[in-house]
Amino acid sequence: MSIRPTGPDNAMAAKRLISVDDLTDADIDYILDLTEHYAGYLRRSDPAPKRLAGKTQVNLFFEDSTRTNLSFELAGKKLGADVINVPVAASSVHKGESQVDTAKTMAAMAADVMVVRAKEDALHYKLDDILPCAVVNGGAGKKEHPTQALLDAAAIRSEFGSLNGLVIAICGDIRHSRVAGSDARLFKRLGADVRFVGPAHLMPDSDQFTDVPRADSLKDGLDGADIAMGLRVQFERFPSDDDAGSMAARFDEDQRRDYFETFGLSHQTIKLAKPGARIMHPGPMNRGVEIDGALADDKELSLILRQVFYGVPTRMACLDALLTRGE
Ligand code: ASP
Repeated sequence: MSIRPTGPDNAMAAKRLISVDDLTDADIDYILDLTEHYAGYLRRSDPAPKRLAGKTQVNLFFEDSTRTNLSFELAGKKLGADVINVPVAASSVHKGESQVDTAKTMAAMAADVMVVRAKEDALHYKLDDILPCAVVNGGAGKKEHPTQALLDAAAIRSEFGSLNGLVIAICGDIRHSRVAGSDARLFKRLGADVRFVGPAHLMPDSDQFTDVPRADSLKDGLDGADIAMGLRVQFERFPSDDDAGSMAARFDEDQRRDYFETFGLSHQTIKLAKPGARIMHPGPMNRGVEIDGALADDKELSLILRQVFYGVPTRMACLDALLTRGE
């Protein structure tokens, strides 16, 4: 019996998932349909087919993670893969082994897929060149987080049916956010009207994302929005010598209050968007900085826990689509 949602063949073209740009439009549709298919198993608490039985999945996270690491682990296990989480803090990386050597060592244990998170934007491409297994990006520097974008799209589809024609305002620290970049690229491909909203010093350089309009106030940026996506102010990614870096150094209680007053998403500011507009946030949240806790917890308006839910079936779909190509 076929478990496929859209036909008998897995015709996934992509061999890796480092960027949203690795996926064809058909790949994206396939993954989103397969995500909904696996979401059904999770909602019913039914065991999913063990499509990855016999496959080995290595999770190699050189940066902290809660949601992404654990949902990749759960996703692989639900599909029957043998999943290993490399305990980076207790591994030979701390004896001076390079990230590339650690990855090569893990790949030599007959890994079929390696899910990698790293501070460097380029590491995944280097690993894709030298490793015999599929490489999946679990978060790269400030550039890419493709599975976050796919799970965000899946959560939006589950609420609105489609992204086509939706106005989506991505708000806050766009400059240091890998989620903002991957979301903007994917949402636009799915027909959404995407805009960035935030202070000028937290916007990408002017030659980046030239096709995404920018607003420097919530009043302009949320006007007509169906969705406001809040982003964490990512202090750990601020270089200390730029404007944002000196802002991080100064970001005391008063600064947090000022930021919240100007750019915080709350029941008050969300009124600037379309009536009934939904709130999203990739997590982790700084409550009282970029988002008010009461809005984040609003059961009607907030899709934040829905995003977390979709993390598992989306990553099941990505792993299945990549590892069973052509079957
Ligand atoms: N969890 C997301 C990421 O890994 C967002 C964040 O860290 O703020 O990029």
